Amino acid sequence: MFDDLSTRLIHHPYVPPQGFEAVPPGVFKASTVFFGNVDELRHREWRHKTGYTYGLHGTPTTFTLEERIATLEGGGYCVLVPSGLAAVGLVDMAFLRQGDELLIPDNAYGPNKSLAEGELKGWGIATRYYDPMHPASLAALITPATRLVWLEAPGSITLEFPDIPALVEVVRAANGQRQQSALAGEGARPILTALDNTWGAGIAFNAFDLGVDMSMQALTKYPSGGADVLMGSVVTRDETLHQTLLMTHMRVGHGVAGNDAELVLRGLPSIALRYSAQDQATRQLAQWMLTCPQVATVLHPALPSSPGHEHWKRDATSAACLFSAVFKPQYTQAQVDAFCDRLRLFKLGWSWAGPISLCAPYDVPSIRKQPWSHSGGLVRFAVGLEAVADLQADITQAFGALAPH
Ligand SMILES: *Cc1c(COP(=O)(O)O)cnc(C)c1O
Repeated sequence: MFDDLSTRLIHHPYVPPQGFEAVPPGVFKASTVFFGNVDELRHREWRHKTGYTYGLHGTPTTFTLEERIATLEGGGYCVLVPSGLAAVGLVDMAFLRQGDELLIPDNAYGPNKSLAEGELKGWGIATRYYDPMHPASLAALITPATRLVWLEAPGSITLEFPDIPALVEVVRAANGQRQQSALAGEGARPILTALDNTWGAGIAFNAFDLGVDMSMQALTKYPSGGADVLMGSVVTRDETLHQTLLMTHMRVGHGVAGNDAELVLRGLPSIALRYSAQDQATRQLAQWMLTCPQVATVLHPALPSSPGHEHWKRDATSAACLFSAVFKPQYTQAQVDAFCDRLRLFKLGWSWAGPISLCAPYDVPSIRKQPWSHSGGLVRFAVGLEAVADLQADITQAFGALAPH
């Protein structure tokens, strides 16, 4: 009825207790849910949200949040899990079997790769890493055993923005060929695509319009906005994929607590406003940092000099609160570390999209297989909700740590 996302999230329907329609939906908590009789106990169904059977399989609060996250992402179905990383793991566990191959972008979120190198490898699932900026590199790695391709836009830390439709097209073409050989008698499961959409958050672009099968998010970041809860989601438009995810979700016992769901429900009405405010502040700081003599380059998809800027410009309408600054090579890692230590408003810590600005130094060559073209230290900044002028003054005073002693 209304096109605007904020309006739709704020007026998103839910079923209140009789006579208690209010701004927030209720917070329901339970392990046990009672059945009226044995017939109900045997037949009540949770998989299509037509009933409640056990706290682990959904409450009115988690069902409401699932519906709102599906709306946020422009998808049809949502599964909630206890963290963003658990959402990555849910997709992997639901669709990968022994002997399958997984393809992950070289610049992916680090723990996504760690899971692949740890448990998945132990379960007989092989992983290879493609260059997300070259769709041909993805095409070259696809084999008959390939089952799942992760995508991420932009890449973690280095923030290259890939051509998602082109990567999806590579997978579609491979699936088309597979179908033909399946007709010729070799049964084949299609390759699925899953996007880590934590950065876009359902605001910067619609993942499904770009062609992906599944979109996962760390709700820990923008949807919460408070840096006070961990949660993840996997959204699809395909009911069969959703039901597969839901069965794995049930078998591995991934529940989400009512109080945690409440925190995310509370963050959602302001998500579009926060995203936009943090976007503007981040672009101002990133642009200013590009002019600082200590800095060799700044990585942020909205900067024309940033890799994949043209894809961001074509496919996205806004950008998240992250940028990375690469210092000039004359500064040692110790000096860059001292710069980080001298910052006062920017705290040292993981995660982002909360009220407080954060930063962390990264050693890119140690987290990538592909060659890295810069030799100076990299610091990733996550901009919070403080005034831009104060954040700029903080960075300016911390530059003092780079001066020779
Ligand atoms: C934070 C993050 C995750 C994991 O989220 P957690 O809730 O911290 O487990 C996954 N992907 C990306 C891109 C993230 O930034």
